[in-house]
Amino acid sequence: MERIRRITEVPRIGKAASADFAELGVVTLEDMIRFRPRAYDDRREERTLLMASVEDPTISCRITILAHSEFPTKKGLTLKVLAIDDDGTKLEILCFNRGYLKSQLTLGTSWYIYGKVQRIKGRFQTSSFEIKRTKEEAGIGKILPVYPLTGSLNERLMRSASYYALMALSPIPDELPDALYHKYGMPHHERAYRMIHFPDSLENAKKALRTLAFTELFMLEIGILRESRKQKTAKRSIITPLEKKLIASLPFSLTDDQMRCAEEIREDMDSGNAMNRLLQGDVGSGKTLVAWITALHAIAGGGQVAFMAPTELLARQHADGAAALLSPLGIRIAFIAGSVKGESRRLLLKSLKEGTTDLVIGTHALFSEDVEFRRLSYVIIDEQHRFGVQQREALMHKGKKASILSMSATPIPRSLALTLYASYSVSTLHTMPSGRKPITTYLVRDDRRDEMYKAVGVEFSRGHQAYFVYPRIDDDGESELRDVTTMYEVLRKEYPGVSSGLIHSKLPDDEKMRILHGFQNKEISYLVATSVVEVGIDIPDATCMVIEHAERFGLAALHQLRGRVGRSSLPSYCFLVYGKNLTEEAKARLRVMKETTDGFRIAEKDLEIRGPGDITGDRQSGFLRLKFASLTSDLDIVEKARYEAEKVVEEDRGLLKAENAVIRRNLYKYIQSGTELEQGAIPR
Ligand code: ADP
Ligand code: MG
Repeated sequence: MERIRRITEVPRIGKAASADFAELGVVTLEDMIRFRPRAYDDRREERTLLMASVEDPTISCRITILAHSEFPTKKGLTLKVLAIDDDGTKLEILCFNRGYLKSQLTLGTSWYIYGKVQRIKGRFQTSSFEIKRTKEEAGIGKILPVYPLTGSLNERLMRSASYYALMALSPIPDELPDALYHKYGMPHHERAYRMIHFPDSLENAKKALRTLAFTELFMLEIGILRESRKQKTAKRSIITPLEKKLIASLPFSLTDDQMRCAEEIREDMDSGNAMNRLLQGDVGSGKTLVAWITALHAIAGGGQVAFMAPTELLARQHADGAAALLSPLGIRIAFIAGSVKGESRRLLLKSLKEGTTDLVIGTHALFSEDVEFRRLSYVIIDEQHRFGVQQREALMHKGKKASILSMSATPIPRSLALTLYASYSVSTLHTMPSGRKPITTYLVRDDRRDEMYKAVGVEFSRGHQAYFVYPRIDDDGESELRDVTTMYEVLRKEYPGVSSGLIHSKLPDDEKMRILHGFQNKEISYLVATSVVEVGIDIPDATCMVIEHAERFGLAALHQLRGRVGRSSLPSYCFLVYGKNLTEEAKARLRVMKETTDGFRIAEKDLEIRGPGDITGDRQSGFLRLKFASLTSDLDIVEKARYEAEKVVEEDRGLLKAENAVIRRNLYKYIQSGTELEQGAIPR
């Protein structure tokens, strides 16, 4: 074991400073060389005062001191030094809190200054500057790293710490197999670490950062892949008669993707390891059916299945769907939610415990303490991003050995999915069931709504249905936003004789259910709603989705909302109504919505606009403590790292080959973050 070399070894770093370093995560010299500058200060070019402009007010040049004076400020007299640069341009240097400079900047001496100037009444002034005796000390002619700071730390101390650490640890060994440096034209680590702290060009700094990002992701992927279950022996799993019956009873045939995903799940379930799988597919791609087919597989194998949905509304809809499809096959189905109480709850709990219920569908109430199963073997989580970490943890305790299928309608690129959902296998539905008509999306300016009302009216006359979505429940008198309560009245006047329902989160659940049922039975032609309709509900004759103040919704929400229509072979329409003063980001979102209905593309765009944290929900916050790589902007590196790591693990899982010894030696530095990753990742 090598000796740990602490940061306190660096001259001038004592107790106080080392505490500040620790706050930045720097305890050892090794940490220091891996401490990432947040930016670079390019001082290579000599810039005299004449070159300073409003766009770039930086100067870095030699000056000569001409005179001293003082001027009054709130804090008393402040030193003002008059100087002149080599072009002969004068500069006033305002020395706030730096009175000591008076004795140093003696008349007639020359100095090097780096700073930002302002032009006030034709005179150059600076109050933000560094002034040094030599060019070297002022950093002129160099690119200086700019580090994040805290407490008593300053940039100079950081620079000397990184300089010291690089010297002390040199020669810094390689961290990757030789072939990878060559293949991707990456500098070796000794040079990469040097170049992030003391770059000779910005391009080389960038190259070095990308090398370190690659290394980090590569090690992370190696860690993930080595821990993931070994490839199953190619044992084919058999589709049971029960599943075949269901498939035969459908009025349509399964898509190839549905077949393949069901197959992947089946094999994984039968492999003997507890499955942990993500089923991702766009809104309307038919995930639910894959869930039911595989549920039958589990039931045929003698297990019980729990299906969890994020809202009672959705859970009930799924229960109705399951009753229609699965009851005829003899499957015993139950429903549970917070609202199921008293005697019916007691009976339900009994049947679960005794194993006389095969499939239970419900909300997170499924995982209340009093719910016990006899032989829970498969847990399906619909719209998994809607659930918090605790809910998933509670679930974990119920079915220790159960297979888990998490379904998500916010698909993300595969390599990213594999990285973010480290301990998951991933199945993807790429294609939609055939026969779907595309949804046409219109962007409607707020003051052009009349045409839209007309178009929706035409759909009503054809017996079709619509959703009107607003961001607020009622008018608080302050906001300019339209709200459902007011608009419900407005729309009643707009469409006399057309039946409507008002639905939002403050209504009691049974009221929501009643309205939704009315909508399903077509007693109600349109819903005036908040985004409660966002998740999962399925009404085939609904052909219009109107979203007002669309600029205020995120891309994922807009896509989910739009996914409520276009669920049959009828042509469907989505109207995105927007107001004035759109931000650039809002415009970008609306443009994406207009251009594509492909959830994968939308997710990618969303990733570009927002970054991945939000997309994947709570679980990501802080779980990948990446120092160098960004999952948003370094997607290309993620791909490469995944590809190379897969190759290595496939050929040499134990990292026993000579050329892979270097990985084994360096993995520990990265595996620490790998452990954090497992803790912060979705519990399993
Ligand atoms: P999601 O993936 O968004 O959960 P659903 O499972 O709700 O999508 O499916 C959307 C609709 O598509 C449902 O009405 C379902 O019956 C229908 N559907 C599913 N699979 C097919 C298929 N292979 N062919 C035609 N329709 C299908
Ligand atoms: Mg769904």
